[in-house]
Parts: sequence; structure tokens; C-alpha cells
Amino acid sequence: MPQDFTLHTHTIGCDGKNTPAEMVARATELGMQAIGISNHFIVHPKIRESNFYPHAVRGGYSQIYSASFDEIMARFVPIYQEIERVAKNAPIRVLRGLEVDFFPDDKWRQNFERAIGVLKPDYLIGACHFIEYGGGLRNVHDMANANPEERAHMLNAYWGKIGMAAESGLFTWMAHLDLPRKVGVGIGDEWRIREYDTIAKLAKNNTPIEINTALQPMPYPSHRILQMVARANLPVLISDDAHRVEQIGRFFDSAEQLCTQVGIKNRLSLQKILDFSNKTL
Ligand SMILES: [Zn+2]
Ligand SMILES: [Zn+2]
Repeated sequence: MPQDFTLHTHTIGCDGKNTPAEMVARATELGMQAIGISNHFIVHPKIRESNFYPHAVRGGYSQIYSASFDEIMARFVPIYQEIERVAKNAPIRVLRGLEVDFFPDDKWRQNFERAIGVLKPDYLIGACHFIEYGGGLRNVHDMANANPEERAHMLNAYWGKIGMAAESGLFTWMAHLDLPRKVGVGIGDEWRIREYDTIAKLAKNNTPIEINTALQPMPYPSHRILQMVARANLPVLISDDAHRVEQIGRFFDSAEQLCTQVGIKNRLSLQKILDFSNKTL
């Protein structure tokens, strides 16, 4: 039996295509014992000045980016109320999460802690979709378009930020560790040491990771990283990163096989996630 809960999912109000009620109905149909909705929590004062922002506007998902905490809270409060409402009548457990873009500065952290004090999420997924570079925000597409030297600087900043997110102690687990692989960046063997350092930081701070089946045929993170994860005995869970009902539980079977193949034995249970959250949130 593959993992029977899914906690990394997105709904309308964010960049997902279905309502919380539709997502819960599908998870129930698949025999899941729990589903968590974890919409993007991305706040940065310069977010609208970035290269990617016009693409997000054209793609119709720019609402997921906020320039202030007040702005994001106004958006999240009704989303959380709706999830709460659906949870009350659901036959399975429904949790409220956030997929958070971490920014390593004191002001961000202060505001973030204020926000989670209001929202009271059940768990927090740490993510790094953006890095601060050259005075602005950059994403993986900027990395792909950069010259090799700049790309290497950005990728270094990326791994540095994953390490800092682990050290922050804020996150229940880290999402899609090697996200730049989405655009073919960071694949070379020269990145092994940087990845190894980051896994060591995650292990030191006891921060779990996910196998994210949205990328196929090889999910995040790579085989190379998963072997390090297995050796460090980091706890692992499987995420589908579903943005629509059809994606719930996608490739969970092959992700289970992958765990066996690379020797991952430490699996993050739903109970451990809830225990972690009770302790820190
Ligand atoms: Zn993500
Ligand atoms: Zn996601």
C-alpha cells in the first residue's frame, strides 16, 4: 500500500484548478486517510518588479505573489475558512498547510510568525522558488537563461537558501529540493558537494524532505540526492503537488519503489507531522 495521505496540494484561490471540496472528494475516493491543502505563501516587496512577473500575469496566476503580509493575509483568511468549513463535513481528515517561500531576513520572519499566529496552519512546507540575486528576485527560468557564471552564482545562492531554511527550524519539511532541475539546471556532478552540504544541514536540523512526483520520469529530488538522504537517514514523505483532482496520488507507487531502491527507511508518518506541528506551531 503506498502512502495513504497527501499534504502538498493547491486549490483555486491559489494556482490550483479545483475547490477544497473537490480535492477532498477525490482523496476520499482514492482511499486516502488525510489530505492537506498547502497553497503558496509567497511575500516579497520586490515581487512585481521581477522578470517572471509579467509571465505570471499572462498565465493568470499572478495572485499567488504578494508584495506585503497584509495583502497575503487578506487572501488567505477566506481560503482557510473555506478549508475549515469543508473539513467539518469531510469523511477523511483535512489539514491546513502552507507552501512557504522562505526569505532569510529578520523582518520577514517577524511578519511570518505574526501571520501563522493568525492562520494557525497544521504544518509548513518550506520552499525556494525564488532567490535574491543582482538586486532583484530570480527564479529557475532566470537561471536557465543566465550565462554559465551567473547561473552558477544563482545555483549556489539557491542551495544556500535551502540550508538556511532548514536552520530556521520553521518547516515541517522541505519541498522539491532540486527545483532547478525542472529547467535542466544543476544536474552536473560538480554540484554533488553543494548538495551534500545542504543534506548535512537538513540532517543536523532534523528537517525532513519530500519526494515530489510532479516532475517525471524522475521526481524531485534526483537519485544522487536521494542516496545522500538515505545515508543521512532523513525522514521522507511523498507529495504529488496536485494542482487539480486528477493529480492527487500521482505516481505514488513508483515513488514507493524509488524509496526501496535507494534504501530510504525513515518515512515521515502523518502522526509525526502532527506531533511536529503541535510542538512548533
Ligand atoms: Zn512548489
Ligand atoms: Zn506546490
